[in-house]
Amino acid sequence: MAKITRSISAKKSSVPSVPKKVAKKATKKTAKATPKPAAKKSPKPKPWTPAEVYEAFSRFRKANPEPKGELEHLNPYTLLVAVVLSAQATDAGVNKATRALFAVADTPERMLELGEEKVREYIKTIGLYRNKAKNVIALSEKLIAEFGGEVPRTRAEIETLPGAGRKTANVVLNMAYGEHTMAVDTHVFRVGNRTGLAPGNTPLEVELGLEKVIPPEFMLHAHHWLILHGRYTCLARKPRCEVCLINDLCRWPEKTV
Ligand code: SF4
Repeated sequence: MAKITRSISAKKSSVPSVPKKVAKKATKKTAKATPKPAAKKSPKPKPWTPAEVYEAFSRFRKANPEPKGELEHLNPYTLLVAVVLSAQATDAGVNKATRALFAVADTPERMLELGEEKVREYIKTIGLYRNKAKNVIALSEKLIAEFGGEVPRTRAEIETLPGAGRKTANVVLNMAYGEHTMAVDTHVFRVGNRTGLAPGNTPLEVELGLEKVIPPEFMLHAHHWLILHGRYTCLARKPRCEVCLINDLCRWPEKTV
């Protein structure tokens, strides 16, 4: 026993002592290099059950059986133009301009007769109006040249039109032709993510997620219910959770009820 004690104390004394300053520095460095513990991630919300999704959309339907979009239009063509003009603009702002425009040009032919310069005049209160006027004329030309002056009925075809992307195509297919498409704008994107109904990093992910969970019987109006919910209840900065129809089902950890 005594032997062991001696040998340990001999070893200890053979280690050169580190100057205090160096030791301090080393400790500092070690502290810096130590990775901070990862911030606590909030647990992934539990996915909605089919029964919960059904319940949520039943409530939306009961509250507003025939929801309507707020973009004014007269036919599929004027709807297409209105949606193209609505990029980064409010529906109210677009309606203000298109009321007069559509009174004189409600077909691609009439729009071409009017000409780009006059279209620009009608829509100059809308953001990006120069580019949008160019697109309205170009898409009208293309509709006449390739689609017999009619708005085509497939997403792929609509997406070939100047100024029209996937969202535009989905709105037109849904509102003009009754297709079960889901257009994801800023409101639908927020609601899909916050509620946990269809979380996604891109509008396409949310679109596909919503299409997957929403029962077909609700799909015709689902887009409008979600837009209206985002626009008037689940507001970006101050969601009105206290009056929200689905506040008991919503998975958002920050909901206020
Ligand atoms: S409870 Fe609040 S956060 Fe959830 S959907 Fe309703 S308004 Fe939005």
